Amino acid sequence: MPTEELKQAAARYLMQTYTRQPLAIARGRGTKVYDFEGREYLDFVGGIAVNILGHGHPDLVQAIQRQAAQLIHTSNLYYTDPQVKLAQVLVDHSFADKVFFCNSGAEANEAAVKLARRYSHDKYGAGRFEIVTMKNSFHGRTMATLTATGQDKIQKGYEPLLPGFHHVAFNSLEELTEAVTDKTAAIMLEPIQGEGGVHVADREYLRQVRDLCTKRDVLLIFDEVQTGMGRTGTLFAYEQLGVQPDIMTLAKGLGGGMPIGACLATDSVAQAFSPGSHASTFGGNPLACAAGLAVCRVLLEGQVLDQARQMGEYFAKGLADCKERHRVVREVRGLGLLRGMELAMEGTVVVSECLARGILINGTSAHVLRFVPPLIISQPDIDRLIETLGQIFSKQAA
Ligand SMILES: *Cc1c(COP(=O)(O)O)cnc(C)c1O
Repeated sequence: MPTEELKQAAARYLMQTYTRQPLAIARGRGTKVYDFEGREYLDFVGGIAVNILGHGHPDLVQAIQRQAAQLIHTSNLYYTDPQVKLAQVLVDHSFADKVFFCNSGAEANEAAVKLARRYSHDKYGAGRFEIVTMKNSFHGRTMATLTATGQDKIQKGYEPLLPGFHHVAFNSLEELTEAVTDKTAAIMLEPIQGEGGVHVADREYLRQVRDLCTKRDVLLIFDEVQTGMGRTGTLFAYEQLGVQPDIMTLAKGLGGGMPIGACLATDSVAQAFSPGSHASTFGGNPLACAAGLAVCRVLLEGQVLDQARQMGEYFAKGLADCKERHRVVREVRGLGLLRGMELAMEGTVVVSECLARGILINGTSAHVLRFVPPLIISQPDIDRLIETLGQIFSKQAA
């Protein structure tokens, strides 16, 4: 269906939870997507940091096709091969010893919150259940994860929220130290706040957070739903930031587009879950895990991670040059292929102007443009975006 027809049908049949761009996407290939009229768009959104291998990657497509023909779903009443294999790959390449699979980022964080509470409950008894999270954070839309999220606009109208969550300023050790009490079970944060406007955690701050957690036996949870799976140039962002968490959550890029989430933990923490204490019907189903396995293999065996690191640096340079040339650009931030550009104007205008010029970008937190392209993005793709942004900013200034 062409865009206009789809738009009308969507208004009639879908709950109106999204503000969508006036574009219906029909198909995709590599770093490009196409509408129903055949117009091409360069994709710097990647399904919001999800399509890390781009569109139609042959290894991913083949893995999904093969697994779909063999076995799609079984429930967790039985063992399946792809689930165990994907868990092993994640364990082999991270700090973690054990994995729980679910279907989204919110569910992964929900599992992390439950695991932390259970761990603390088993070890210290009832009453030590509080979780400290950051202002401006984003952890999901379930009741627990929207309570964890430090943004009023996401919580508004859903009160009463869950008890036991405190929000402190990101990168402030002082506020965090004050908020941690005898009732604290865990500290949860994103190594880079994605939805909150691409804010990177300071290395020294993270080191001190780790120390604080270790000293007080408070669990450190890293929400790597957005930063994980090569997004920042290493498989996980924590590898570059010099500290290891006790629990880490993944989703977005993990299935390369198939819905899957994961909660990873060390053995001593993971043992707080026992049979029956947590579950998901779809969680870790063979189809999603086969996709996850294909994604991991491409990242680990191919050159994609190296390429992503190089392109991340190239992109950072391009954005910094753009800032030098255009006064409307206040700041550029990020790591690897998670980049943000803070503007002195509304981001939505630039998003629309880019769309009109055949480039998909995303705006987050009003004044920030966020770029989360597939990790297979090329130098010419980046050049085209930087050039287009320059044209738009020049036009705005005129
Ligand atoms: C996207 C995101 C989530 C929520 O993931 P869903 O799959 O939409 O539930 C949680 N945490 C972070 C850091 C995210 O970027």
